[in-house]
Formats: sequence, structure tokens, C-alpha cells
Amino acid sequence: MENTYQYCNSLTKYSRLKTREVKVGKVGIGGNNPIRVQSMTITNTMDTEATVAEAMRMVDAGCELVRITAPSIKEAHNLKNIKDELYIRGYDVPLIADIHFTPNAAEIAAQIVEKVRINPGNYTDRKQFQVIEYTDSAYQEEIERIRDRFVPLIRICKRYKTAIRIGVNHGSLSDRIMSRYGDTPLGMVESGLEFVRICEREKFYNIILSMKASNPVVMVQANRLLAAKMMETEKVYPIHLGVTEAGEGEDGRIKSAIGIGTLLEDGIGDTIRVSLTEKPENEIPVAKSIVSRYLERTNHNAINEIGTQVINPYEFKRRQSFVINNIGRENPPRVIIDISRQSNFEVDDIAQIGYKYKNDKWNILDQAADYIYVSNKPNDFEIPSGLSSIQNAEIWKNEKNYYPLFSLEEYSKNNIKKSNVLNFVTVDSSNLSDEIFDKIKNDSALVLILETENKHGMAEQRRFIFKLIEADIAVPIIIKRNYSRLDSNQLLIDSSIDIGALLIDGLIDGIWLESNQSPKTINKTSFGILQATRSRITKTEYISCPSCGRTQFDLQEVTAKIRKETEHLKGVKIGIMGCIVNGPGEMADADYGYVGTGKGTIALYKGQNVVKKNIAENDAVHALIDLIKEHGDWVEN
Ligand code: SF4
Repeated sequence: MENTYQYCNSLTKYSRLKTREVKVGKVGIGGNNPIRVQSMTITNTMDTEATVAEAMRMVDAGCELVRITAPSIKEAHNLKNIKDELYIRGYDVPLIADIHFTPNAAEIAAQIVEKVRINPGNYTDRKQFQVIEYTDSAYQEEIERIRDRFVPLIRICKRYKTAIRIGVNHGSLSDRIMSRYGDTPLGMVESGLEFVRICEREKFYNIILSMKASNPVVMVQANRLLAAKMMETEKVYPIHLGVTEAGEGEDGRIKSAIGIGTLLEDGIGDTIRVSLTEKPENEIPVAKSIVSRYLERTNHNAINEIGTQVINPYEFKRRQSFVINNIGRENPPRVIIDISRQSNFEVDDIAQIGYKYKNDKWNILDQAADYIYVSNKPNDFEIPSGLSSIQNAEIWKNEKNYYPLFSLEEYSKNNIKKSNVLNFVTVDSSNLSDEIFDKIKNDSALVLILETENKHGMAEQRRFIFKLIEADIAVPIIIKRNYSRLDSNQLLIDSSIDIGALLIDGLIDGIWLESNQSPKTINKTSFGILQATRSRITKTEYISCPSCGRTQFDLQEVTAKIRKETEHLKGVKIGIMGCIVNGPGEMADADYGYVGTGKGTIALYKGQNVVKKNIAENDAVHALIDLIKEHGDWVEN
């Protein structure tokens, strides 16, 4: 395979991709600057007092740049009042105007704030959802039309030293881009680069780029491709990272951490925003937790470079491992939970991980762990069917659904008793040798439990797996990571990134998180990571926007209501969007959409099509349920 992974400096030695420095007011982004943390207000931009108060809370929480929506000229003008008021109160944080569809508003905002964010999918294009066959010359004519509309903004930005973020969203690519590239990572990158070329012809380089999607896999692939394309040229612009419409609570945090963290692991990303359907100040601690992982990353234990390219980093393909018991190949990644610390190993322990005993029978929930690790505890407890148990090899007895765990040394002994079906063998990913590969190569009853002590552990484990692929060894891999020293918040962030980054590339067959948190927390986090990477769908997926000045209803409250009614609908994707202008595009691949259209009115979508309009907000959740029923996706709870 050709060497397509030159999207970062190194896949094994942590270092940040060197980008140009862009000044956004007093804050430098890219170059040698730290990774910046930013967020966006959710108030009405015309409500100066509320927007100023919210921006101050964001800054107090550690937000370094504040973005504010400017849907029309009047909001763009009001940015001046907001800026002045913040300054009077001692806050000179750089402001960013968020623009969709309104070049006029952008041109006003660019004279007031330090950065303007435009969306190339809608800066000059109105989406008609048309597929048009473009000849090269027709395509070029379209670009010229964009140029005419975009150049005035560039010239204002040059004069006022205002930066521009060319912010591409997977869900709002123009018809032109969709017709030529589809909604692919390449389409996203080209959408941004078309605007970059126009800037460069004007000798304007104060550019930051972003490639966002609600699906972390797409978001990661697009940013890798963007970095790779820029590395082929002389100008590598700073990259802003974020997962759009990530949602709320743990799910939103996990999705954001996976998308953003996977790229930061490889040194890509100069500024980040964690978009949550919550107050914007809640986003900042999450963003800081993500960034904190990289503050002292450069001094990690050395990992040898990877020589041969073995996967395509811009396309998802699951590694083809053996099937052993219910692990590997097309089986969903498995979840192992350590319950050996639970004192008695009882029904209550199993209930925490998805097996409820009621009326003399076991009820198995969608998020039920697949294996428990019991260490040296004897098998005197009848485990429910569907669950298997892992015991240390020294006490293991060959009974149904009990499997042994060996160290590599133990497993290498000739006279040791093994299972004919499934043996787990623990290996540290720094321990990579031909000798090990020879031992495991043709064993069709072996699953590797891959551990790491390296600070840059994901990269070390990835290298180990790449070497297995290179050597054509199809042994299934379970990733084990130890987070015993972390609180539940950092556990969520660290495990999402360490494990999510490997799932994004389809490299692993299961996960085993060690932590002092309860089995219930660990189980929930494990399934959350699998859901966010779409490796194993076990619950409803919510794609909800963070809301902004365009939103005319309480998005958090409505999201909570919808969640309460629908969270048992495994596999259904529901978009909850604050506005009609961006919502339908942004929710991209949702099955159903709940979109605000005006004060107190909602439209409902089936896929990308609006099917019910002008529904009163009070009736809208029930109307959504009816719509799901009509399409046969409803099940009773
Ligand atoms: S979809 Fe949500 S965050 Fe995006 S512009 Fe509309 S209301 Fe604002």
C-alpha cells in the first residue's frame, strides 16, 4: 500500500504538527502556542446583557476565545456593544462572529471582532439538494462566483487584521461539492481548500480551518486528510477541532473526546471546542481535561517507528481477526469487566453490568458485559447464559463459559492446561518481538489482552497491532487500560481517547478498563465508547446541537424530554436542532429530526425530508413519537 499516512509528524513519537501562527487579537493559535480552548454563547445576540454575562462566565471557566452567532446584520452590529461592555468589565477576550448565509453580516462583524467563522457550504450557496453534473468549466464558474462574493470579506479582514475560520461541516456541504465528491471526507476538505485558494490569491493567510461532523469517524478522517493535503504544500494552517452536535452528558463528552483526542494523539489540532447541549461554561473543564493529557506527552518512553503502511487512515475497515468463541472479525467488540474486587461476587454485582435476576430468571439488558474477570475466585456461582467468566490460569477449571487468563510465560509452557476454545494471554505492547509472534501466529484459541505502561500508550498499542497486520497474524485483540488513579471524569476522557482512537480505525475486538470506579460506571463508559464510535450500537443516539442565539426554545429541556420518552429505542438516531437554518443539514444522518422553525413552532423530519411543519412546541414531542411509530421504529419500553 502506498504511504498514505503522512498526515502527522509521527505515528509513534508524540509531537505537534507545526502550523503557521495566526493571531486572533492577543491570542496566538498554531505555531508554538498551546492548544487553545474555546466555546460559543447560546444567548440571543441582541440581548447584550445576557451575552456579556455568559461570555464572562465562559472566560472565568478558562475559555480563551468566545464565539457569538451573527445571523443577520443587526446582530453583527450588536457585537460592538457586546465587545465594549466586556471591555468595560475587564474582559478583553477575543470574539469570533459565527456566520451562515450572510456575507453582509460577515463584512460588518469583521470590522468589530477578532475572527469571523464562515461555513463554505453556505457562505454564498443556498442548498437546493440538487445533484448537478458539473463540467470543469461550469465548476470553475461557480468558484469565480464564490470568489466575487468572498473577496470583499477577505479585504476587510486584511485591513482590520481579522482572522477567518473556514469552518466546514459534514452536514452542510454545498450542492456543488456534494455533486462532485459526495458527503465524503475528501468533499469536506475540498470545500475548505476552495476557500483557502481564494484567500491565498489575495495574499491573505490569517486562516484557521476546521472539519466537523457529528460522527467522530468522519471527523477524524477529514482532519487527517486536511493535514495531509496541507503538508504537501508550504502552508500548514492551524486546525480547529470539534465534533458537532455531540449531545449532552456523558455521551456528548465521550463523542467529543474521541474525535478531538484521536487527532491530538497524533499532534493534529491547535484549538478545540467541545460542543455540548449544556451551558457553554460546562464545556470548558471537559476541553481542559482533554488538552491536559498532552502537556507533558513529549517525554514518553520511546516507541520504534512504523515502517510499512498497513491501513488506510481515511477509510474505515475493520481488521480481519479470527473468530474465537464470540470474539473477533464481525462480532461486535466485546466488553470485559473486572469484578474481582467485589467482595462476594453476587447477584447484585452482575446486576450492575446488565444482568438482572427477577422472578427466577435472568433479564439481559442491551448494555450487558460479555465477560467478567474474577481473578482467583472459584467458580461457585452460576453465571447467566450470555456471560462468560475469566479466571487466572492457576485456578481455572475447564467448565462451561469459564476461560483461563495466562501471562505469556505461563502460556509458553508445554505442560500447562489450556482451553480448546478460548485462552486469554496478557502481553505488554512494548514487548514486541518475532519470538512472540511465532508463539501466537497459528493459535486459533488465543485472544491477546494488550496492555501498556507507556504515557503515549495508544500509539504503542497501535504499533503493536500494525505489526500483527504486517505479519499477517489474525489473533483477536482486547485492549486493556488501567485508570485506577483517575476520578470518574478523567476516566471518561482518557478511556474515550485511548480506546476510541483504536476503534476509529477498526483495529480492536474488545475493551477492558481497569478502574476504582464501580463496575456499573466502567460498564456504562465501555458501552458509551463503543456507541460513539458506532462499533456497537446498544441505545438510541441523540445528535443535538449546542444551541446558540438562533435557538428559540429551551434545547436542553426538550432534549431531556425526548430522551426520557425514546431512550429505549436501540439504534434509532434522533436529531434535535435549534434552528431551521442549519439544523437539517447539521443533523446529517439522523433517522428523525426535531427542528425549531420559529417561536414556539417545530418541524419534524424523517431523514433529510421535512414531514410535519408548524407543530406547536407543546405537542411536538408526542408528534415525534407518532412519527417514529408510523415508520415502524417504535417499540414499547
Ligand atoms: S443548529 Fe443549533 S447551534 Fe447550529 S445554528 Fe442552529 S441553533 Fe445554532
